[in-house]
Amino acid sequence: MADAPDRESMSYDVVVVGGGPAGLAAAIRLRQLAQSEGRDLSVAVIEKGSEIGAHILSGAVIDPIALDELIPDWKEKGAPLSTPVTDDRFLVLGPSGAVGIPHFLLPPLMSNRGNFIASLGNLCRWLAQQAEALGAEIYPGFAGAEILYAEDGRVKGVATGDMGLAKDGHRKESFARGVALLGKYTLFAEGARGSLTKQIIKRFALDKGRSPQKFGIGLKELWQLAPERHKPGLVMHSMGFPLDDKTGGGSFIYHFDDNLASVGFVVHLDYENPYLSPFGEFQRFKEHPAIRPMLAGGKRIAYGARAITEGGLQSVPKLVFPGGALIGCAAGVVNVPRIKGSHNAMKTGMLAAEAAFQAIGEGREGASLDAYEAAFRQSWAYRDLYRVRNVKPLWSRFGTMLGVALGGLDMWMNNLGLGMPITLNHRKPDYATLIEARRARKIAYPKPDGAVSFDLLSSVYLSGTNHEEDQPVHLTLADPSLPIARNLPLYDEPAQRYCPAGVFEVLRDAEGQNPRFVINAQNCVHCKTCDIKDPAQNINWVVPGGGGGPNYPNM
Ligand SMILES: Cc1cc2nc3c(=O)[nH]c(=O)nc-3n(C[C@H](O)[C@H](O)[C@H](O)COP(=O)(O)OP(=O)(O)OC[C@H]3O[C@@H](n4cnc5c(N)ncnc54)[C@H](O)[C@@H]3O)c2cc1C
Ligand code: SF4
Repeated sequence: MADAPDRESMSYDVVVVGGGPAGLAAAIRLRQLAQSEGRDLSVAVIEKGSEIGAHILSGAVIDPIALDELIPDWKEKGAPLSTPVTDDRFLVLGPSGAVGIPHFLLPPLMSNRGNFIASLGNLCRWLAQQAEALGAEIYPGFAGAEILYAEDGRVKGVATGDMGLAKDGHRKESFARGVALLGKYTLFAEGARGSLTKQIIKRFALDKGRSPQKFGIGLKELWQLAPERHKPGLVMHSMGFPLDDKTGGGSFIYHFDDNLASVGFVVHLDYENPYLSPFGEFQRFKEHPAIRPMLAGGKRIAYGARAITEGGLQSVPKLVFPGGALIGCAAGVVNVPRIKGSHNAMKTGMLAAEAAFQAIGEGREGASLDAYEAAFRQSWAYRDLYRVRNVKPLWSRFGTMLGVALGGLDMWMNNLGLGMPITLNHRKPDYATLIEARRARKIAYPKPDGAVSFDLLSSVYLSGTNHEEDQPVHLTLADPSLPIARNLPLYDEPAQRYCPAGVFEVLRDAEGQNPRFVINAQNCVHCKTCDIKDPAQNINWVVPGGGGGPNYPNM
């Protein structure tokens, strides 16, 4: 920034960008190793949410395999995993009926036995307490806005965003320059479609030779169910209605704690129809006769949305570069058929921490943590992803019914050691899958009933989203003319529908002429879908002022 005052800088051994399960597991492992070897090692974690957990949205059914390794006495230490899975159901929904798939037909690796239903946000809050107790420094409300490079090109840290800039970019009285956080190693733990991670992948060509990353958008509501309808420990998944066979996705409902249920819906972002609204599909799902009775008499208490990585193993980029590494869903470690990524996110954080600790101990700074990449390939997290690597490509190629059946067969064969010997690639990135609006079927979504289905505005209200209004818009357009000049005629500007927070609108004058593209940035729930799905790849999501965004209580 021209004539900006110099940044203050703070130096650490390791800087972690993102306080989700991956980043916090890394911080904990680093401090555990330092304590056990009696070494001095400083770790800072920055988190863009107003507090740890504020931006975490997940299911979540949690496989405790990584937590067992990281904090074996997590139960005694009070980790918020109190609802074990006791009932596991899978439904195929038609327009008015449902068929249950018997559990014995599902591949064993899909089983949720031994897993726990919880709020991942609350687990992160607890992990942050453990990290702090071990001596890590955690800074919520600070967003990593810029990557800092040393003269030789290695990453030397990140800078937090400047505070007190007005919408037009001028400095307000409250202006304060961001802080440079310098680390011998920087771990990027931003989750799906990280804004800095995206730059790192490009700069170091980490995705060379890999399939394009694939994503879904997950929408979720937290419900307080009528006590007679609540069955703690119940896990229910569905596919089919309301999505057509060509559109991937499905639902999850997890009953936990005191009458709480996580009710969610994932739409794969390689959908074709520009008229599709993931939010509208989610609302329709809840009106299905197999679902509505469960929600009747209950109360919706929170709403949010977040992208989920779906590319699997073939889309995991190279994990290391000089001065740092990608961990967790910044690298895309979700097991798609299991809809689980938090266990792998934590494991990659732990492995990167071990490699960084060793390198620092040997006096190597800013090197490439190749030991982390090698350890990942030997880990159970790699095997977890390897066994299911062909499920998503089969689903994309053959549609939901046939594709999922073939994927299930492949998982069964894998279980017997006879899975497909090849790895199928993903063909197109998600931004390239829309068909033109003139060839697409228009979709009329029913009016919400206010009992189980709701409108967008009341939903966004329940996300607790808040951004300071007078700040530069964080949804930046490389070419401001493209939404109206290109996306509107070709795709009826799909941003109006794919955004789960109503951020993008096309407004016209009283005669219905002169369309203009409006960005209501203050509503953004940081799901990153626009950055992924915009067909012109013209929207670049950058971090707003630290602390802005959703305030999820226990998502
Ligand atoms: C709808 C849905 C359902 C899911 N269900 C399950 C499930 O049932 N079980 C399961 O195991 N997994 C599930 N997952 C996947 C799981 O949530 C992810 O695998 C996991 O959260 C990844 O952890 P992470 O730490 O890599 O990233 P995240 O959890 O996304 O955390 C990243 C953190 O970094 C912060 N951040 C990002 N950028 C910056 C920046 N520039 N500066 C500072 N902070 C930043 C974010 O605010 C966030 O707090 C689900 C995901 C979704 C979306
Ligand atoms: S503006 Fe983009 S990141 Fe924000 S809620 Fe909408 S789609 Fe998600």
